[in-house]
Amino acid sequence: MSTNEEPTVPIITPNPENLVCARCGSAQVECLDWVRVNDDYFIGGSESIPADDYWCPTCEIHEEPIQAREYCETKGHTENPCTVCGAGNGPTGDGP
Ligand SMILES: [Zn+2]
Ligand SMILES: [Zn+2]
Repeated sequence: MSTNEEPTVPIITPNPENLVCARCGSAQVECLDWVRVNDDYFIGGSESIPADDYWCPTCEIHEEPIQAREYCETKGHTENPCTVCGAGNGPTGDGP
């Protein structure tokens, strides 16, 4: 039997505003958040989460994510268009 159907995880569009893993730049960072138990209503409250409550499934580390823009300023862009912040997408006159 080959009914190994996993739920489709939505793809995150690269954006400078995204929070990404400070180590690998993945936007798949997860965090613990407050959700109402009875109806899964999202309460939020992610402003003051300790770093321990973040999780990067790629690196398998607990580390607080940073902004994609910040990540690219530090490490440079990843591929073109950048898979982290989306820069380089489309014809830009971005010469050396
Ligand atoms: Zn990571
Ligand atoms: Zn980038």
